[in-house]
Amino acid sequence: MKIAVLAGDGIGPEIVGQALKVLKALARDGLKIELEEAPFGGAGFDAHGDPLPEPTLKLARVADAVLCGAVGGPKYDVLPRAKRPEQGILRIRKELGLFANLRPAVLYPELVGASTLKPEVVSGLDLMIVRELTGDIYFGEPRGRRNNARGEREGFDTMLYSEPEIRRIAEIGFQAALKRGKKLCSVDKENVLETSRLWREVVSDVAKKYPQVTLAHMYVDNAAMQLVRKPKQFDVVVTGNMFGDILSDEASMLTGSIGMLPSASLDAQAKGLYEPIHGSAPDIAGRNVANPLATILSSAMMLRYTFNQDEWAYRIERAVKDVLAQGYRTADIHEPGTRKVGTKEMGDAVVAAL
Ligand code: NAD
Repeated sequence: MKIAVLAGDGIGPEIVGQALKVLKALARDGLKIELEEAPFGGAGFDAHGDPLPEPTLKLARVADAVLCGAVGGPKYDVLPRAKRPEQGILRIRKELGLFANLRPAVLYPELVGASTLKPEVVSGLDLMIVRELTGDIYFGEPRGRRNNARGEREGFDTMLYSEPEIRRIAEIGFQAALKRGKKLCSVDKENVLETSRLWREVVSDVAKKYPQVTLAHMYVDNAAMQLVRKPKQFDVVVTGNMFGDILSDEASMLTGSIGMLPSASLDAQAKGLYEPIHGSAPDIAGRNVANPLATILSSAMMLRYTFNQDEWAYRIERAVKDVLAQGYRTADIHEPGTRKVGTKEMGDAVVAAL
């Protein structure tokens, strides 16, 4: 299992360093992995004048999975758009054909105070949003600006999904549900949109292959409401690019802590890029205060979704639960009565808990 490690910028190297500690500890216990690092984002620009240098892309292509930290920083904000670190992320997703974005939102009982919702609503929350990443109204053609017959300016976009695009994201949704609570909720706007009518038909058809999974359909406006009303009713939610963009941010905020949330972006063969949902946090970079748990949990997702190594993934997730139960907290999740530790110490605590 070859893993390309792209630490990136800001807190990237610090948090990825902790995930590597965890993976190397598992390797000592028998997990067969090969790790290779390469510059990416601002670091890619510094080394090769490009946020996604050719050797880095080559490594990402030959690797089975990619583990990323985060990219970006004020130093690079003056660069032309094509050279900005964030373009590296967009390009690597496109080059690797990563069309499925998986974002779990888990609220650990010890961190229930971090949510803005009532403890009884969110305590024990564990859901996953599967968002289609390369289609929909963000990419549909035609799009543009024009003047209408009355000479008024208009802007227009096209919401568009083909059957194969829906089918492959639905497959990812059902497979994710199989690995979890076996419940899938497909979110659309079937009462209004033709795209959604096709979406619902195709998802219902794919469901025939997965009799073990209970499928429900929900309108996106209701889903937005249910996510804050009764979020624990959800296991896996599958939806299109725009609805998923909005719902995944809403879901992540149910947990209140950006430093805890991992993500995966997968291709059709479940090759994936794994990264925390947060950015490079330049305001705290280099100070050993960043929370490495989102990145450590991203490596657990990698073992589960790309390598089908549920046991090893579970060991990492279990260790994270244990360190939280033991009271270890980085500054972002620290509360009185808990034990404040730095990035490295949190990584060491997870390794010890493994
Ligand atoms: P950010 O996520 O980096 O930071 C937002 C806030 O959350 C900051 O106060 C930061 O200190 C805090 N934070 C983030 N991660 C944390 C962690 N692990 N532990 C503790 N606190 C943490 O978002 P931003 O400030 O809007 O963006 C900073 C840079 O990151 C920008 O250059 C932006 O373009 C880039 N960015 C990159 C990605 C990516 O690499 N995928 C995603 C989002 C933003």
